[in-house]
Amino acid sequence: MSLFSDASRFIPGGVNSPVRAFRGVGGEPVFIERAAGARIFDQNDRGYIDYVGSWGPMILGHAHPTVIRAVQERAALGLSFGAPTRIETQVAQRICEIMPSIELVRMVSSGTEATMSAIRLARGFTGRDKIVKFEGCYHGHSDSLLVKAGSGALTFGVPTSPGVPKEFAAQTITLNYNDIAQVQQLFSDSGNEIACIIVEPIAGNMNCVPPVPGFLETLRAVCDQSGAVLIFDEVMTGFRVARGGAQALYNIRPDLTTLGKIVGGGMPVGAFGGRRDIMEKIAPLGPVYQAGTLSGNPVAMAAGLATLELLDQPQFYEQIAARTTQLMEGLQHAAKLAGIALSTNHVCGMFGLFFTDQSPVRYFREVMACDVERFKRFFHGMLNEGIYLAPSAFEAGFLSAAHTPADIDATIAAAKKVFATL
Ligand code: PMP
Repeated sequence: MSLFSDASRFIPGGVNSPVRAFRGVGGEPVFIERAAGARIFDQNDRGYIDYVGSWGPMILGHAHPTVIRAVQERAALGLSFGAPTRIETQVAQRICEIMPSIELVRMVSSGTEATMSAIRLARGFTGRDKIVKFEGCYHGHSDSLLVKAGSGALTFGVPTSPGVPKEFAAQTITLNYNDIAQVQQLFSDSGNEIACIIVEPIAGNMNCVPPVPGFLETLRAVCDQSGAVLIFDEVMTGFRVARGGAQALYNIRPDLTTLGKIVGGGMPVGAFGGRRDIMEKIAPLGPVYQAGTLSGNPVAMAAGLATLELLDQPQFYEQIAARTTQLMEGLQHAAKLAGIALSTNHVCGMFGLFFTDQSPVRYFREVMACDVERFKRFFHGMLNEGIYLAPSAFEAGFLSAAHTPADIDATIAAAKKVFATL
């Protein structure tokens, strides 16, 4: 019996998060036993060059010795106390230093919790109920946000989930990502009813779609005019596309920021923070309730702190960006030689591959028009060659600091072989 069928006896669909089940590409998922640097290894110790990186957190590469040591040392002191610890302050201080828009920050245990709490806070702060999000953006699976969401839900063609009350969904207005005129229209009609805009400043859950010039600026402007709270969901982009996240890259100051993934260095961590006057509305300072038994867990904080400290290495982001560019250019060149229509987007160590003539891909409808069947064949071909890509045509890929030029060359060589079979 395969590990997957064994798992499926006890776990719904054999997985604890849907996209892992390979439904988007067919076949059975690879079970991972261990990982080191740029590679993950299955139960037979077959290695794969990994471009998923646990869906973003592993920017240093897997099992970085400094991070592992920090976790081991911390774990030996006790796993959880449910009382404040010094290391929580150290992480919070780091976050505030790296992202100056964050004046106060609260730790949680997942990206979903971070966005859910930020939305509640924005509603509590403004006294308004309606929220704005964008089609193809994913902000975790809380009720208000599981409305035409991307990511796993998109892969399955279930844009909204049963179990979300329609009264909740009715409070969520979903607009087209990168459509500036539509945002302006909505806010001129009903801006004073809107509690917040939540946005992925670079969309990473409909593959990888950067903002068009003026899009984020427009969001900032309409929020300033209407009093709505601007929330940048930087769960994926935070510490990823630049040390200070997309807000540093594009020089836009959101009112609130949600974080996850890298901030926990591979441990279950999320965070939300921002303007002091808004954050002061959170309990125990204010009336908006939010809490967590394991929030700020010391072992998780140790992984996060060690990871954030290592981002300060010289040329850290420049190197990842250069490797990503090398990969994208190599793949495009190989696709061209094979006569395959391939379009790519990338921002620093975050990338998207699209089987389409459209270049660049900027809108949700363009993402949806890509050749998913061809992606599936590409995915399995690459897996067979020892390259582990995200098992869905709608997910961004990630490089880490551990990916070497030789890894990139090996990946391009594998793609050459696979393109010839498509
Ligand atoms: N926001 C964004 C932008 C994400 O990419 C994700 C997860 N991929 C989430 C929120 C939810 O985070 P988590 O899976 O940790 O709940």
